[in-house]
Amino acid sequence: MNAAEQKLLLAVLAQPTAPFRENQVKDFAFSYLAQRGIPYFEDPIGNIVIGCPGANAYRALLNGRSREPVRVFIAHMDHPGYHGTRWLGPRRLLAQWHGGSPVKLLRGSSVWLADAQGEFGTGQISRATLGTHGHSMATLEITLPSDGLSQRQRPPASTLYGGFMFRKALWTQGRRIYTRAADDLAGVFCVLATADYWHKHKTLGKAPFIGLLTRGEEVGFVGAIGHFELGWLPAAKRPVCAISLEASRTLPGALIGKGPVVRLGDRRTVFHNNYLQVLTGIAQKYLPGGFQKRIMDGGTCEGTATTAYGIPTIAMSVPLGNYHNEGFEGGPDSRGFRGPAPECIHMDDAAGELLLCKKLLAPGLPWDAPWSAVRTQLRKRLTAYRRFL
Ligand SMILES: [Zn+2]
Repeated sequence: MNAAEQKLLLAVLAQPTAPFRENQVKDFAFSYLAQRGIPYFEDPIGNIVIGCPGANAYRALLNGRSREPVRVFIAHMDHPGYHGTRWLGPRRLLAQWHGGSPVKLLRGSSVWLADAQGEFGTGQISRATLGTHGHSMATLEITLPSDGLSQRQRPPASTLYGGFMFRKALWTQGRRIYTRAADDLAGVFCVLATADYWHKHKTLGKAPFIGLLTRGEEVGFVGAIGHFELGWLPAAKRPVCAISLEASRTLPGALIGKGPVVRLGDRRTVFHNNYLQVLTGIAQKYLPGGFQKRIMDGGTCEGTATTAYGIPTIAMSVPLGNYHNEGFEGGPDSRGFRGPAPECIHMDDAAGELLLCKKLLAPGLPWDAPWSAVRTQLRKRLTAYRRFL
C-alpha cells in the first residue's frame, strides 16, 4: 500500500454513513472516480457500478465472448445506524435503529448526527430499546446538547441519521485504525483503490474489472439484491467471479494484524471452491505466511446474495475488532463488554487485501483448471507409493 492508498484508506474510513443514507460515501466515491477519469454510473437502486460508463457498456462487458471471468468486486457503503423518526421535544429526537448494534451500556453513549448536507453535531442516547430478539437496538431517544438546535433550525426528524460517536471519527494507534465504521468502508476503500490500479495499468490487457458499491447491506443486502434483480449479472453470457470484500468479526484463526482472510464462506454458505483455489494460489504466492484462511461465520455477507443468484463467488475479509460497534474486544473508548466501542482494523490487513485484489486482475489465471497443479502433485504421490500397491 503506497502513501496515496493509505491516505485514501483513512479518508474513506472517516466518512459518515448509515443504511440507505450512504450519500456522503457516494459523494466521496464520485469525486475520487471523476478526478481520475475512472468510468462509473449509478444503477436504478443507487448502487455505484465502477469500470463502465453506463448500463449498456456494463451489459456488453458481461455478454462479451471471452473465457476470462469478469471480476466483480463488491463492498457495501453503509454501516449500522439510525434514522430520525420524530421530535419528542426541542432537544429530544426519537430514532429507529437499522442493523446490528451494541446491546449494553447504551444510555449516555454519544452519537453523531447528520442530514443530507452532512454531519453537523453529536447527541447522547437517553433511552434505548432492544428488538425482541435482543441482538440489537430497535429504537433510541437522543438528547441534543442545550446549545444544539433552535426550534427554527430544527430539521424534519426524518431527514436526520447517524451512528455511534467516539473521541473522533477516526484515529490511529500504531498500525491499528479505530473508526466508527470499518465495516464496510474498508471494503469500499479496497474497491476504489483497485479501480485506480486497474485504470492506471491498461497493460493488464483485457482484465475485466467491475466495482460494485452497494447500499443497505446491514439490513440484509438490500442494495445488492436490487442490483441482481435487474438481471444483468445473473444473465451474463461470459464467466463472472464475484469477490465480496468485507470487514468481518475477528474469530480464532482470523486475528487482527495477521493478514487478510481468504474467506471460505460466511454464516450461511461456503463459496465457489474452484475460484477459491485461484485466490488461495495467489495468496500463497504473494503473501506467504501473511494471510489467513477460514470460514468467517460471525455474520453473513453479500457473498450469500451472489451465491443465491447463481454467481460464482469468492470473498476476502479484513479482521474486525468490536464488530458493529459492540465492545467484544474492548480497547480505547470502549464503554465495556457489549457496550458501544469503535471498530478496529489493522493497516497491514487492509494492505494485504488490496494486494490480493490487484493480483486477481492478472490475465491468464487458471480459472478453468485451478486444481491441475494440485493433481500433478497428487499423481507424484501415487507414483512414489505404487510399489506398495
Ligand atoms: Zn456489517
